[in-house]
Amino acid sequence: MATDVLEVIRAKRDGLALTDEQIRFFLEGYTAGSIADEQASALLMAIVFRGLDQRELATWTATMIESGDRLDLSSVGRPTVDKHSTGGVGDKISLPLCPLVAACGAAVPQLSGRGLGHTGGTLDKLEAVPGWRALLPLDEMLAVLRDTGAVICGAGEGLAPTDRKLYALRDVTGTVESIPLIASSIMSKKIAEGTESLVLDVKVGAGAFLPDLDQARRLAETMVGLGTAHGVRTVALLTDMDQPLGVACGNGLEVAETLEVLSGGGPPDVVELTLALAREMLSLAGLGSVDPAPALADGRAMDVWRRMIAAQGGDVDAPLATAAHVETVAAPAAGVVRRLDAKAVGVAAWRLGAGRSRKEDPVSPVAGIRCLAKRGDRVEAGQPLLELHTDDPARIGGARHGLDAALADGRIEIGVAAPEPRPLVIERID
Ligand code: URA
Repeated sequence: MATDVLEVIRAKRDGLALTDEQIRFFLEGYTAGSIADEQASALLMAIVFRGLDQRELATWTATMIESGDRLDLSSVGRPTVDKHSTGGVGDKISLPLCPLVAACGAAVPQLSGRGLGHTGGTLDKLEAVPGWRALLPLDEMLAVLRDTGAVICGAGEGLAPTDRKLYALRDVTGTVESIPLIASSIMSKKIAEGTESLVLDVKVGAGAFLPDLDQARRLAETMVGLGTAHGVRTVALLTDMDQPLGVACGNGLEVAETLEVLSGGGPPDVVELTLALAREMLSLAGLGSVDPAPALADGRAMDVWRRMIAAQGGDVDAPLATAAHVETVAAPAAGVVRRLDAKAVGVAAWRLGAGRSRKEDPVSPVAGIRCLAKRGDRVEAGQPLLELHTDDPARIGGARHGLDAALADGRIEIGVAAPEPRPLVIERID
């Protein structure tokens, strides 16, 4: 067996395509524990450099799906459609989007994750609601989905266990940044989740996983291809993540902003992206004639939110906790905001306690940043630009230091000329 393992690693190292048997042998052996972490790390690194061709990727992804359960959502009684974002700063879109799409007649089974590094995670955000439970047994998840039309919860252990093991290894071996590995990781979980349709929000720009447009486009095309091959109707939107989405970046702050959006207000970019994704989801679900805008404005999406949160133990009427310390970073000069680098803001929010460095770290529900001015806004010298929230004053220094550095090197820039407008939805791929 050792020879076979080495043959697989050497073949990919030398740029050869792996056979379907080799891929299955390797992934099944690694999941079962007969292939060691260091051997899997070597193969993953070879894939980072050599890639996987279309057939290899199809077999790799299918083997990951087959490693666990594939949920059966046929009892839900409505067309099912989900959304996945590749992650960003201030990206709370799932929170208003899932109840909105449910209010328009589809069912949204969203199995979500937690944040790592400078990007936030949907489960961390919702846990800022007192009492809300992220982990539900399968029968309870299906009951919430049937009763309210939407459920957001953690994925059970049985879903794509090979990805769970591989992702943990990639995280500590510098092998996350590979289009076939990212695409197979995301799509194996979404396909196993059992949704009939899927809209991908692939982020582009400073705060994105793959900042470059061409790379983001290739990732989107690869994921759309995998979804379609597995019978999941899949569309991707490439969307701007050069500056944070909305005003709020941080768990409870983002829930508060969600409530504004569900009350018919909220920042225009959050509303625009929520509606753009809702339209794509409804169209894939065969409900393309339904306009989601009225359901957001007239409180129907808010009604679903309240039922969805309450069904998972959340106290929808309890006030959200607020931070003990709030300080501002002022604009150093008068002018127009030309850049507000999403990663710089995300890292500062993480330093304030909104994110984690290791999977087992806790996150603060109150920590984060509010962006009081965004790209294109005019500011006066000394006007508050960013508002820092934390319960731990010792964290302010590190966050300020990072933001001062971004102001000094132009990642946050106030200038004379207005910046070129950037569309929020950059491209659509189907
Ligand atoms: N999210 C995932 O689930 N997998 C990846 O590889 C990257 C982001």
